[in-house]
Amino acid sequence: MSIPIQEGYWAKCSRCESRAVVRVPYAKLNLCRDHFLGYIEERVYRTVERYKMLRGAKRLLVALSGGKDSLSLLYLLNSLKGRLGLEAVVGFHLDLGIGEYSKASSEAVSLACNENSTECFTVSLRELTGFTLPEIVRASRRPACSVCGALKRYFVNAVALELGVDAVSLGHHMDDILAFALKDFMLQDLADLAKMVPVVPGVPGLLVTRLKLLYETYESDLELYANLRGIRYLKTHCPFKYRDPFKSAIRKMLDELEAEAPGFKLSLARRLAKNMFGGISGSSKPIVPCKHCKMPSSTGECTLCKLTARITGKPLGPVVRERLKSLLRPP
Ligand code: SF4
Ligand code: ZN
Ligand code: ZN
Repeated sequence: MSIPIQEGYWAKCSRCESRAVVRVPYAKLNLCRDHFLGYIEERVYRTVERYKMLRGAKRLLVALSGGKDSLSLLYLLNSLKGRLGLEAVVGFHLDLGIGEYSKASSEAVSLACNENSTECFTVSLRELTGFTLPEIVRASRRPACSVCGALKRYFVNAVALELGVDAVSLGHHMDDILAFALKDFMLQDLADLAKMVPVVPGVPGLLVTRLKLLYETYESDLELYANLRGIRYLKTHCPFKYRDPFKSAIRKMLDELEAEAPGFKLSLARRLAKNMFGGISGSSKPIVPCKHCKMPSSTGECTLCKLTARITGKPLGPVVRERLKSLLRPP
């Protein structure tokens, strides 16, 4: 959990003669801007190596929301592309149709993709399904973030299958992963807990492998990385953003432990990965193709088909996949 060094306080960088701008307590380092950026890039590179994440994967799809986490991931991947032996990094953004918020998200994504010379596919939920996220939420009467999460998973996977990439890279950082994992453990949701690993293997033709390249990256490090690198990420919050009191309490507890023992979260994440690789026996739910659109589901009917059948009386998965295919097809 790195901390910016205040303007009036002078400390020398641990790696050069320049003024340090960041204190990294868990590594006992003070770093200048350039050495901090290099330090974070090196940490992500080592995470990928430690968990043998790529295993020959050459083409990655990065899900981009426009926020600091996913855009930092895009910049990190582009600076590490050569060292990681990647041939292509492709961006994907789902325009949810949440008024000004979605407009600003799409702009932030497009700016970052231009700066990185990254090919990026933006698709609109309304164009694909006929509905915006607020309309689906209103009609389905389900919590916004749970509908949104399910739709994003559906589309990221559908786009990855369509483009034939080797894996999908998500912007989840260590703080979020640990909070989710502890919440899952307390609620004994073992199927979800088993997914809190650096690599969630895919199923050929059905589910693309998902990588958490920021598995060992602190949220505060990412924020500093984004700010020091001058990444123009979206700073406004989604109007649906909901503060989960359970998760907030867990995050507060983890922050306190980290302040007492710098590096605590890192060792917890490593233990979690070590004990969780291979899954938790008896916890995994079977993944079967949806009977309508052939996308992954646990019951034989995927979330998109269930949601759209509830709203329109007809599962829209097959139509949506066809539309997606034509949108992604080169002209
Ligand atoms: Fe989606 Fe919820 Fe995030 Fe808004 S806050 S973008 S609804 S997951
Ligand atoms: Zn330095
Ligand atoms: Zn379906």
